[in-house]
Amino acid sequence: MTFANLGLSEELLRAVADSGYNDPTPIQRQAIPPVLMGRDIIGVAQTGTGKTASFVLPMIDILAEGRSRARMPRSLILEPTRELAQQVSENFDKYGKYHKLSMALLIGGVSMGDQLAALEKGVDVLIATPGRLMDLFGRGKIMLNQCSLLVIDEADRMLDMGFIPDIEEICTKLPSPRQTLLFSATMPPPIKKLADKFMNEPRMIQV
Ligand code: AMP
Repeated sequence: MTFANLGLSEELLRAVADSGYNDPTPIQRQAIPPVLMGRDIIGVAQTGTGKTASFVLPMIDILAEGRSRARMPRSLILEPTRELAQQVSENFDKYGKYHKLSMALLIGGVSMGDQLAALEKGVDVLIATPGRLMDLFGRGKIMLNQCSLLVIDEADRMLDMGFIPDIEEICTKLPSPRQTLLFSATMPPPIKKLADKFMNEPRMIQV
């Protein structure tokens, strides 16, 4: 199985080739086709398996069509820490170099003014930690009703850090139907419950 068999666009295949990757990893092989078809997935995978590209690559193709409006991001990626959020944004820069997607990071430790200015211009991809997102949402700076693609990354770490109530609240603000992708190294009961409540017949992928 090669990247070319997964259903990705020519532009993305070019960006992947530029990165020097020859073959998709097991999580990429199993996750990319159903995500491109609009399905919900649960990826039970550790960091280091190539799981970031397994959602970033199909998201770029899904979002390539359509335009964002001010303060209404089209997709949301939740990360437990600002370091992980930054890494994901670097992946979007790397794989999205032949696309024109706009992206904003909402994380602590970065100037609020810059984050708000980016949101105001309209973003295709919003990458956020739950705390900072809830803060801006509560102040009316952001609307989530156009956000039809959600990624909950490192869900077990979110649980350890006490973010599950925030994530539940965020899920209730998003439109339905929507596509939800959840990644976690383990599936403890609170994460299973979250998936049962907010996901639509997810396909379970275990690597
Ligand atoms: P992740 O699990 O997303 O943190 O990725 C782990 C590392 O694997 C990162 O340094 C990626 O750049 C790299 N990587 C992702 N996909 C591939 C691939 N198909 N082949 C080789 N390396 C990859």
